[in-house]
Amino acid sequence: MSLVEDFLTPSEEQEVIDAIRRAEDNTSGEIRVHLEHHDGGNPEGRALTVFHYLKMDNTKLQNGVLIYVAVSDHSFAIYGDKGINTVVPKDFWESTKRLIEAHFKHHNFKQGLVEGIQRAGEQLEKHFPWQHFDRDELSNEISKG
Ligand code: CA
Ligand code: CA
Repeated sequence: MSLVEDFLTPSEEQEVIDAIRRAEDNTSGEIRVHLEHHDGGNPEGRALTVFHYLKMDNTKLQNGVLIYVAVSDHSFAIYGDKGINTVVPKDFWESTKRLIEAHFKHHNFKQGLVEGIQRAGEQLEKHFPWQHFDRDELSNEISKG
């Protein structure tokens, strides 16, 4: 892994954005991906900070999910808001992490993100199906810090 800018090619980035949009077509939940260089030694803690920074805690149903990647530190974390945390199976985040990790290990960053998004999307869809009043509460673009 090198720089944040090189983590995904422009076309891979577009595939990740498309995966988020497709997932959100079926759920009121909101998924975001954030890339930055360093996690300060604590990817989970940093993911939570970024989650608040991106105002992901402001969704109506508290069903935002952040996939956080510290590119230079080779680390990542997933943070899901209260609404989703209380309903997903206990090992859900851990198994999703393992799925992403398996691809990251082989430098298949785009594939790891896309599959992680799909998996999170399936759980979101189950518990927070898309409804007519739903809107895109959080941008699907990848945020970079
Ligand atoms: Ca939405
Ligand atoms: Ca969105």
